[in-house]
Amino acid sequence: MARLLEGKPIADRVRAELKSRLAAAGKKVTLASIQVGSDHGSEVYVRSQKKNAGFLGIEYQMHALAAHTGQDQLAAFIQSLNADPGVNGIILQLPLPPHIDYKTVSGCIAPDKDVEGMNPVNLGRLLFGRATAVPCTAASVMELLAATGIDLEGKEVVIVGHSAIVGKPLSLLLLEKLATVTVCHIGTSKSGKLEDHIRRAEVLIVAVGHAGLVKGEWVREDAVVIDVGINRADGRIVGDVEFSTAQERASWITPVPGGVGPLTVTMLMRNLVEMSLQQ
Ligand code: NDP
Repeated sequence: MARLLEGKPIADRVRAELKSRLAAAGKKVTLASIQVGSDHGSEVYVRSQKKNAGFLGIEYQMHALAAHTGQDQLAAFIQSLNADPGVNGIILQLPLPPHIDYKTVSGCIAPDKDVEGMNPVNLGRLLFGRATAVPCTAASVMELLAATGIDLEGKEVVIVGHSAIVGKPLSLLLLEKLATVTVCHIGTSKSGKLEDHIRRAEVLIVAVGHAGLVKGEWVREDAVVIDVGINRADGRIVGDVEFSTAQERASWITPVPGGVGPLTVTMLMRNLVEMSLQQ
């Protein structure tokens, strides 16, 4: 039976470390958050950011822009925050209205204020193994893996999902650890090969957003399973992996909720603190 790999104890430890570093530096830190229009889904995330910032004594500035704000107007607003020495980090809340291209506007955030690590400069640094800000969900997965004590060198790691915020940055971070990384996606599923890849995984990371995509019986005996997915099914929040059957086979498994989720905002705060101390 797998041990539960919970995010909260790690998040508590990292937050306490960040608090002492900030106190030691005596630095006032401000995070500017931009929301364009309103979205019910992002409210939970924003609440959690405010709570984490409050605990660390970080000022949280919310800039609520109208849903009809144009892309150029948003880019100009971001530039004004880039130029403001009182702002240490900038976060753009998702989703954005359909007339705004996330890749374009996230590239407008100055690399040294890009706390989500999604500016192409920061993603390029990640490619070179010199990341200053690692995308938060990928960083959370790496923290959870570190907590298991597993040596990743030479391990068969299978990632399901190749998004720019999770699967792709994770594949780079795991390559840095000399893991043997396989990245699966929709093409893998369509070709009917997903199960074969998953059965080989000593470490399995699933970030798709499809409840029950990974059958528990596919999980290799003693695998470490990190389930990033968040899905609503039958009024409950569940991951992408069939939890109860997977738990019987794995050595470690993240619960959903309670695994990756509690760590993500803390990783955002860690990026912010590290960047602020460099500014
Ligand atoms: P995206 O929708 O951006 O990416 C999903 C990925 O899954 C894509 O690479 C897609 O491939 C792939 N995919 C879709 N269907 C299949 C399939 N049948 N078989 C294999 N691969 C498939 O989502 P995100 O990366 O943003 O998020 C993934 C999940 O993680 C979501 O449930 C999200 O809510 C959750 N999440 C959780 C966080 C947390 O803090 N716990 C933070 C961020 C996300 P393709 O593009 O080729 O179709």
